[in-house]
Amino acid sequence: MDFVELPDGVEPEEVPDLGVRDYDNGDFSTYPQRQGWNLRALLDYDITAAYDSWDEASQNFGPALFGAFNGLNLDALEGRDFRSAVKAVARNMLLSVVGSFIQTWIMLGTLSVALRRPVSRDEVIEVKETIEENGEKTERSCISLRAAFAECVVNFRDHLEADSDWSADVLRSLRIGITFLDDMAKIPAPQRYCLLPRSVELSLLVLLSTIDLHQSFHSRRKLRANMYSCESLEQEMKNQRKWCPHVLYRLRALGGAQSLYYTALLPSFAVGGAHENCDEGICVAFNIDHGTYRTIHLEGCGDKNQHYICQDVRVSERDLGLMLEAGGYPLVCLEQGRLKLVRYEPGIQYVAISHVWSDGRGNPRQNALPLCQLRTIQRWVSNSAHKGTFFWIDTLCVPIKEPHRNTAIMRMAQTYEAASHVIVLSEELLMHNLPASPLQALYMIFYRGNTSQKATLPVSKPGNHFLNAK
Ligand SMILES: [Zn+2]
Ligand SMILES: [Zn+2]
Repeated sequence: MDFVELPDGVEPEEVPDLGVRDYDNGDFSTYPQRQGWNLRALLDYDITAAYDSWDEASQNFGPALFGAFNGLNLDALEGRDFRSAVKAVARNMLLSVVGSFIQTWIMLGTLSVALRRPVSRDEVIEVKETIEENGEKTERSCISLRAAFAECVVNFRDHLEADSDWSADVLRSLRIGITFLDDMAKIPAPQRYCLLPRSVELSLLVLLSTIDLHQSFHSRRKLRANMYSCESLEQEMKNQRKWCPHVLYRLRALGGAQSLYYTALLPSFAVGGAHENCDEGICVAFNIDHGTYRTIHLEGCGDKNQHYICQDVRVSERDLGLMLEAGGYPLVCLEQGRLKLVRYEPGIQYVAISHVWSDGRGNPRQNALPLCQLRTIQRWVSNSAHKGTFFWIDTLCVPIKEPHRNTAIMRMAQTYEAASHVIVLSEELLMHNLPASPLQALYMIFYRGNTSQKATLPVSKPGNHFLNAK
């Protein structure tokens, strides 16, 4: 999987090359028929009926079968050795016939359409060596798509927009490939992985969704989000790693298998909260009980009995209401321990603060925050790339009572849109160092529930470095 960008420090997963066949460079959609495959039977796991050349294929396995029995104790033919030898041969046979067909069709076929030229197996193979403990060298054939994919990106950039027939062909082959892999995913995992190893299945899904992402920049046509799926990876993330179904849904809609795969690899990015009661539509793990919610002071402000050194600083709800009635929305800045309020007018520069309520910077009772929190937020605002001091945060700028509360909420999209920067505050993000890649930072922000493309991420490096990802 060497063609996709990966989080810092993550090595690409090795993908085995399953076969020797080249793509025949004919039409993508009818390749299976040309090769003697019946996809319906294959998807029904009727392996015998799925292929019309099993006799021919099995002849190639005579030597392998013989090799597997060679050296076996004939007295043990009824025993486990015999059964496991036969199983191993049958499995190799399935992989090198069925798996190889699928890999050739989807990988080489889609690349041929995307590159508008024949793509041979040789050009995507990399031979890797391992030295065994006894000093013997073993070689294995792996897939390397770095060069082909780079060519694809340049081709799309330079020519795709002007060639609508080609663009339609690319989209059609992606749709056929993804639909097929999606149908394959309905075969239960143990049987499915006898036909196609998990690493190959995943690499094909990631390849198709990444090609889709790149083609959509230029053709402005994207596969429908609900076409994306990556059942095996999603199940693994949900069941073994307790990811939230709502987050998985949003990641899938964002970029299919490619987004899920990337996020699954984010190092030490914990998934906080209990998500048993969440579903695709909503995450309820961080729901707030307004009755017991406590606004939190910064560490070091106050003693263990919660006697704090600093006071809450509040804005007048009446003033907030007047500003909302006059059109626009309120902005604040901290000046000499007091909050100064202005009404937004075009031309005023400000930073919008997005935060996670469960981190304690909310206040369900009044438009107020402890001075210790406000000083820190004001420092972040003033030190950001933004030149100015005003900021917007829901805790201070959205009134508690109706009807003004609703008015402020209805203007929220506009509030974020007009901000010169957005600062995303999350304790989880603050625990991580600034990633080298902007993509990784954006994924981390996205995961925390903020989908803004304008983001400023404070991180826990000395001096609170900021990543300006606008
Ligand atoms: Zn959840
Ligand atoms: Zn305090």
